[in-house]
Amino acid sequence: MANSTQISIEKQGPATLTILPTYRCTAACEQCCFGSNPDIRERLTLEEIVDSIKTAHRNFSSLRHVVFSGGECVMIGDDLFESIRVATELGLGTRIVSNGYWGASKNKSAITAKRLRESGLKEINISTGRDHAKFVSIDAVLNAMTDAVSQGIFGFLTVEKDAEDSAVFNEITADPRFAALNALGESRFRYQINTWMKFNEQHKDRGTSASTKPNSPCSQLFSNLVVTPHKNISACCGLTHEHIPEMRIGSLDTNGLAAAYEAQTKDFMKIWIHVDGPDGIIKKVYGGNPPPELISNDHMCDTCARLHKCDQTRSLVRERYQEFYPDVMFRYEMKNLLDRISQPN
Ligand code: SF4
Ligand code: SF4
Repeated sequence: MANSTQISIEKQGPATLTILPTYRCTAACEQCCFGSNPDIRERLTLEEIVDSIKTAHRNFSSLRHVVFSGGECVMIGDDLFESIRVATELGLGTRIVSNGYWGASKNKSAITAKRLRESGLKEINISTGRDHAKFVSIDAVLNAMTDAVSQGIFGFLTVEKDAEDSAVFNEITADPRFAALNALGESRFRYQINTWMKFNEQHKDRGTSASTKPNSPCSQLFSNLVVTPHKNISACCGLTHEHIPEMRIGSLDTNGLAAAYEAQTKDFMKIWIHVDGPDGIIKKVYGGNPPPELISNDHMCDTCARLHKCDQTRSLVRERYQEFYPDVMFRYEMKNLLDRISQPN
């Protein structure tokens, strides 16, 4: 929903560039948001990754971090280490998101952790839980995390909320390697339990984790810029972003990163999601009484997908958005102003 004549926003930019080099993965979790599996072949080339990092750095003085996720980003091997090195040399912080499969061999775990540190990696996030553990053992996860943290890389472990028939989190916390990591303190290692979101009919509801805020403003929009394995540029890397065509804001082959980012700052719908969250929009356009099935109890990205896919809601948004426009824009501009004031020079 573009309204370029009325919107006037001072220049802003993303703090984070997220590179999804591939949706290929060693695992094939049943509820993977990207349907990742070992047979997927498409990926970004090293040149495309490095060019994206350099282009983002050149165009956005706001850029602070590069995140490599997927799929399983460690599967691109040397290209990952080189990409981290390039980002580090530009003065950017780096994080990878992995399933920790490379911890299955003690030797490979130690070598990979050392190479990640030598490349300049600052943070590693490893995801595990009941579905992940069907493909990557808890032993591998704890080896990978232990070796990475021992190299001085900050470690963050995300565990799927257990189902009634699983006790993976208890298995992890009972392991002496977890106790040793936890004893290092929050400056070196942290963990959280995440809601495991439904993506197909095999899903069994496990309830919502305390760390998940299903109803809140979306902080990803405008602060993150995402490059996908198909050379598309996405406004976010929320769990449902590939299920919402509106989140695709460009392509490396057509408009490029800077123009794609600029264009989305003129899209009132993204501004509204950023300020009020998808649930806030739904509640407003339905006069505070939305159909309950539109609001997800699990995850805000789930609600976001429902907002974009429901024809009735889309019509209501089109009919009513101008009623809310002045208030939303005022709060958006105030937020930007406060963010700029609080940012270090
Ligand atoms: S490990 Fe992550 S990326 Fe790989 S299949 Fe599982 S959820 Fe998807
Ligand atoms: S709430 Fe919507 S815009 Fe925000 S991260 Fe999720 S899918 Fe993306």
